[in-house]
Amino acid sequence: MSATISNLPLTQLSEDETIFRDQVRQFAEERVRPLVSQMDRDAHIPRTLIDACFELGIMGIEIPEKHSGAGAPFFMSVLAVEELARVDASVAVLVDVQNTLVNNAILRWGTADQQARYFPKLATEWVGAYALSEAASGSDAFALSTRATLEGDTYRLNGRKLWITNGAEAGLFVLHATVDPAKGYKGITTFLVERSFPGFSVGKKENKLGIRASSTCELLLEDCRVPRANVLGEPGKGYKIAIETLNEGRIGIGAQMIGLTAGSLEHGIAYAKERQAFGQPIAKFQGLQFQIAQCATELEAARLMVYNAARLRDSGQPFLVEAAMAKLFSSDVAERVTSQVIEIYGGYGYSKDFPAEKYWRDAKIGKIYEGTSNMQLATIAKALLGK
Ligand SMILES: Cc1cc2nc3c(=O)[nH]c(=O)nc-3n(C[C@H](O)[C@H](O)[C@H](O)COP(=O)(O)OP(=O)(O)OC[C@H]3O[C@@H](n4cnc5c(N)ncnc54)[C@H](O)[C@@H]3O)c2cc1C
Repeated sequence: MSATISNLPLTQLSEDETIFRDQVRQFAEERVRPLVSQMDRDAHIPRTLIDACFELGIMGIEIPEKHSGAGAPFFMSVLAVEELARVDASVAVLVDVQNTLVNNAILRWGTADQQARYFPKLATEWVGAYALSEAASGSDAFALSTRATLEGDTYRLNGRKLWITNGAEAGLFVLHATVDPAKGYKGITTFLVERSFPGFSVGKKENKLGIRASSTCELLLEDCRVPRANVLGEPGKGYKIAIETLNEGRIGIGAQMIGLTAGSLEHGIAYAKERQAFGQPIAKFQGLQFQIAQCATELEAARLMVYNAARLRDSGQPFLVEAAMAKLFSSDVAERVTSQVIEIYGGYGYSKDFPAEKYWRDAKIGKIYEGTSNMQLATIAKALLGK
């Protein structure tokens, strides 16, 4: 009997993927690492570093080459986000939102005109943001109340968005509003809103526990005028765009979680080899060795899940459940491992003079944004049990 078997290990990277991964790793070490503490303290990513991300080509990974992007697969975004998060989870999420939510949505639903107008900017200078959540609608996203009313060839938008990543820096917002609240989720419509559109402004920036350098902002829409030509997809079909984009975005958050877990664990291992207690490095104690081995095992499992979800997505196969599981599990691992690494550092782990505490603060968001852990469980359970 002859059988076709796939002999490719899940974590095996192609030559192109390896070169790209190494480039981003070098960038993260040389350009991002020296700024990490200051960015966390200032709650700000310098524009020069964002410009460097554009120059490296990691802000338009899937954008076609004819629009100045890299024309690369989704998996490359996962590698970029993972490598950046190993050093800094805030820079990682800036790049993640740009690629897995904003560019992705425009790639899938944008008209040729919208792609020609926005892709060259998104690949070279404009940061993008993805605005769904409001004060009263997070998990229950389609209860949003931002209202869009058509007047001639222009929509007039009124409402407020909350918690919008990249809000402080973004030039373009993929923003969801309802054209008819009576229609429920079937009224949700997605708009491409430029920062300079009349009636649009960015409000308060949140003062956060972790990913402090990543901006999280309120958006104000006061009779904001958006051309009809800036509806993404069809009116009333925004719910589909939101659901499907976030399904893919979750893989990116998984990548952020495995990257920061790896970064944290590397620090923990280095410290354990260096710190002396009872006349020897603490890494010599089996108690610590087992803890480190457990952390590394959980990280490996999480990475396999994230990579598998991304590979499924790139090969056009269903990935909804795998993406939800990958985010659920990798965010759990990230919280557990980063907490363990603080303990490996002992008292120093509790100090801001050492890197351990920041990884732990940064890890917490993985269980909250792009669908809380409960919402991932709901997605997985629905797939297993039906509605
Ligand atoms: C730093 C940060 C960045 C963010 N970036 C963005 C962004 O760029 N764009 C954007 O649109 N949003 C963004 N968000 C918003 C984020 O997606 C929401 O906070 C998240 O979806 C949870 O919504 P909520 O805060 O309203 O919590 P709620 O929905 O009020 O949830 C509160 C609790 O109730 C639980 N819960 C709710 N409903 C159920 C249910 N049916 N079954 C079981 N448990 C349930 C939740 O799991 C959670 O534990 C960001 C948030 C943060 C903190």
